[in-house]
Formats: sequence, structure tokens, C-alpha cells
Amino acid sequence: MERTLSIIKPDAVAKGVIGKILDRFESNGLKIAATKKVQLTRKDAECFYAIHAERPFFNDLVDFMISGPVVVSVLEGEDAVAKNRKLMGATNPKEAEAGTIRADFAENIDANAVHGSDSLENAVNEIAFFFSQRELS
Ligand code: GDP
Repeated sequence: MERTLSIIKPDAVAKGVIGKILDRFESNGLKIAATKKVQLTRKDAECFYAIHAERPFFNDLVDFMISGPVVVSVLEGEDAVAKNRKLMGATNPKEAEAGTIRADFAENIDANAVHGSDSLENAVNEIAFFFSQRELS
């Protein structure tokens, strides 16, 4: 049993597809252990994506992530990290496999609908970034 962090990004929240995206998780064996809608501050987004701080797209990424509310969720299930990444599809929606969340709901690499932890270690840290023990119990 694993846990992973999902973020429904501002583009998908604005489009009104929160329910459709959460349904992809539940329909594919991932339980929603916790979920909430939040507006990130610039500092939140800079900390969360600190690993990308030196990348040329960092400022655009931070601007985008604070452009509207996001929905953060903890997904739980067997192979949750890998399963969520598979459901999400490739980072660039134009390269995402048909039937994936990014192929179906994302416009481009800047506004690509969802985030998902890419390793178990990052999942633990990303979950702790957004959720308290009380919210997870
Ligand atoms: P992910 O794990 O599939 O989300 O991809 P990464 O961890 O590599 O990148 C984090 C986020 O940065 C992506 O989801 C994109 O929103 C954004 N990003 C990554 N690469 C690029 C790029 O080349 N250009 C732009 N504009 N954004 C990018």
C-alpha cells in the first residue's frame, strides 16, 4: 500500500473538471485518503517546486500555480505513485497517451492539469507539505 500526492492544477480547476479527474483515481483503484481546495501563495509554490528553481520555466511555473485555486489530494492504493503517474500521462499533453488525464484535460506543457509525486520519497515529503497528521488519520 502506498500514498502519493496529486494536485489538480489551476487550469483544470477553472475548467470545472475536478470531479472528472477525481473519478479517474477512484475508478482505477486509488482511494482519496484526503483532499482540499487551496490557493497557493507565491512562497508555497516556490518551496514546492524548489527542485526546479534553476530551470528556465521556473517563474512561469510559479506564476501559473498561483493563478487560481488548486485541489490537493492524497491518493492511496497499491503502487499508488506509479499508478497515478500512468493515469496522468506525459508532462507534455501533446505526447500524453490517449485516455490519460493530460491527454483529455490539458492544453499545453505550462497548463498540464495535474501534478503527481514521481517517487515514494517525494510523495512522503509532498504529502507532509500539504497535510497534517490529523487530516490523514
Ligand atoms: P511532471 O512531474 O510530469 O509534472 O514534470 P516535471 O517535474 O518535469 O515538471 C514540473 C512541471 O513544470 C510540469 O508539470 C510542467 O507544468 C512544468 N514544466 C516542465 N517542463 C517544462 C518546460 O519545458 N516548459 C514549461 N513551460 N514548463 C515545463
